[in-house]
Amino acid sequence: MKECNLKRRQFLKSVALSAATIGLSHQPFAARAEAAALNTEYLQKIPHRPLGNTGASVPILHIGTAQTLDQEYDKILHLLFREGVYWLDTALSYGWGSSQKAIATFAEQIGGREKLWLTSKSGSYSLNGFIEDIDECLADLRTDYLDLYLRHSVGDADEINKDLIQAGEQLKKSGKTRFFGFSSHGGDVVALLNKAAQLGGIDAILFSYNFRRYGHRELSLAMDNCKEAGIGLIAMKTMGAVPRDAEAVLDFTSQNFTLGQAKLKSVWADERIDSVVVEMDSTRVARENVAAAQSEVQLSATEVHQLGRLAAMTASYSCQGCSHLCEKAVNNRAHIADCLRYLMYHESYGKTDKAKELYHQIPLHSRSLTIQETTLAQSVCPQGIDIKTRLELARKLLDN
Ligand code: SF4
Repeated sequence: MKECNLKRRQFLKSVALSAATIGLSHQPFAARAEAAALNTEYLQKIPHRPLGNTGASVPILHIGTAQTLDQEYDKILHLLFREGVYWLDTALSYGWGSSQKAIATFAEQIGGREKLWLTSKSGSYSLNGFIEDIDECLADLRTDYLDLYLRHSVGDADEINKDLIQAGEQLKKSGKTRFFGFSSHGGDVVALLNKAAQLGGIDAILFSYNFRRYGHRELSLAMDNCKEAGIGLIAMKTMGAVPRDAEAVLDFTSQNFTLGQAKLKSVWADERIDSVVVEMDSTRVARENVAAAQSEVQLSATEVHQLGRLAAMTASYSCQGCSHLCEKAVNNRAHIADCLRYLMYHESYGKTDKAKELYHQIPLHSRSLTIQETTLAQSVCPQGIDIKTRLELARKLLDN
């Protein structure tokens, strides 16, 4: 009970700190957030960590909503909310706006948007588009502010520049978002993180991080640099999924955790990660993930060892999105990492329709490589992926 009260006091202190940090132009938000904090117990069900130097305290688990949400009543969102998962990650592009609209309905059902932490993203190529898109996000979400607004899927460190920082500052001053940053699905994530740390002014970065990346020295140093610069780090793609038959090479055994839970625990074991976003499209997965977040049991040495073995044994199926290596080796038009990512959506998650839709959005000349090109790409792939075979499989399964 004492511990519970302590957590509550810590949370309220964090809200007050957020309010102080935000300043006068955000007073309406601060008042609403404090009111919400006073009225709720759900905020304490999942452990919290500070989000970089923003002053905000956030749950270590939140839900990604690229999955199809029920527009009338999404039972998984309600289940998660009851269990303390009140941070929802969406984007303008998710479900062509339907994700944000479903979240707006959900927010009304639980008694108001103030009870939630909301991230949204714009994938606009231009900075003006990024600035303008927030109005569409707010309209779809039927709210007047976001907690975090991200430039979606940044792949080139040149896009992290003073203009982007200025745009973020402008949006924060307008009260349309409390914090801002960017997400990265691929490219040279080390360069992206280092650039953000060096430039300053970025509140948070959402990037791929999972048990497969433990021991990557440059990435680890870049994460250290971000933490020193006060940037919040949010992990996605935490399952590091590969086709089930490849994963079955190792029969994961544990007294405490399923394989999915162990993968999450391995990311939370890295204290530089402030929160993890996961798509949860079934109540079983939602319950499992919540239980993992709430459990104080840490991974045993044997479990860590098993994850390490799994990473090593299935590396050649796991594209890490380092497209600056294979795609640059070939030409600037190849979309190898995207093709392999969409293949993974089909093979690992059964999301065939989505995989096909995204695959077809890649221009034909960017997914059709010659034998010489795939051989060149393979020669620089640190994962040892058989790119030729995997691209052929993607074409066979997704191009129809
Ligand atoms: S195919 Fe290999 S080099 Fe290319 S993005 Fe994937 S892991 Fe990186």
